[in-house]
Amino acid sequence: MIKFCNLFSGSSGNSTFIETQTTRLLIDAGMSCQKISKALESLQVSLKEVDGILISHEHSDHIKGIETISKKYEIPIYATEKTWEAMKGLNVSSSCKQFFVPNVSFAIGDIQVVPFSIPHDAVDPCAFNLFHENRKITVATDIGHLDESLMQKMYASDILLIESNYDTATLLCGPYPYLLKKRIQGDFGHLSNEVTSKALKTIYENGANHIVLGHLSKENNFPELAYQTVLNELETSHCGLPFTLSVAHRDTIDEVIELS
Ligand SMILES: [Zn+2]
Ligand SMILES: [Zn+2]
Repeated sequence: MIKFCNLFSGSSGNSTFIETQTTRLLIDAGMSCQKISKALESLQVSLKEVDGILISHEHSDHIKGIETISKKYEIPIYATEKTWEAMKGLNVSSSCKQFFVPNVSFAIGDIQVVPFSIPHDAVDPCAFNLFHENRKITVATDIGHLDESLMQKMYASDILLIESNYDTATLLCGPYPYLLKKRIQGDFGHLSNEVTSKALKTIYENGANHIVLGHLSKENNFPELAYQTVLNELETSHCGLPFTLSVAHRDTIDEVIELS
C-alpha cells in the first residue's frame, strides 16, 4: 500500500506527502511549519512521525518551512551538497542534514528514492522517482524544458505529479515584467500547459495511471484551462489505457490517492 497526497502546490508553496505502512515522507516543505503541520493533521498524521523530507531545490516555495521543522521535529532533510550550500543561510541543525546524489538510489524506510536532475534555474534541481513494492511515483515540477530522457523517467508511473505552470497566452498578456516572462518561458524556467500536454501524451502512451498537474501559476494559469488542455491532448491518444487526471490545489490539501 502507498498513499499520495498533495498538500500544497504552486508558486506560493509546495509540499507532497507520501506514506506506506511504515514510512512517511514529504517532498519539499515550501509552506510554514504550522500550515504543513495542520495539513498533515487533517490526514491524522503528526509532523513528528515524518521520516524524511526530500528537497528538490533551494527556491523558497520549496523550502520555506524547513528551518522551523528541523528545529521543532529533528526530521532528516535530504538535499544535494550544492543545494545545501545554496541553503547555508538557513539555520538547520547538522544532525538533520542528509545528502543525496542525482541518479543514485537510496532508501528511506521501505521507499526507494531515485533523484534525477532537471533543467531549472537553481544550483542542482532534482525531481524524484519513488518506488515501493511494485509501485512507482514520480514528482517532477520546476522544469524548464523536457527531452526524451527526462520523459522516460516518468514512464510507467502509477502516480505522476508533473508541472503545468502557465498558459502561454495568459503569461504574455499578463502583468509580469518582460524579463520575468522570458525567465519563466526559458529553458530553465517552467513548463507551459501546451508543452506539458504534448509530453503527457507520450508519457501516457508509455503508462501513467494517475496524472496530477501541479505548480500552477496563480497569475498565468487557470486550473480548468490546464486540465482541459491536457485532457484534449490525452483524448487524441488511442492507447486506451485507464487514467485519472486532476489538478493539485494551491492552498488546500488534495484528495488522497491510495494504491494497493
Ligand atoms: Zn523553482
Ligand atoms: Zn517552485
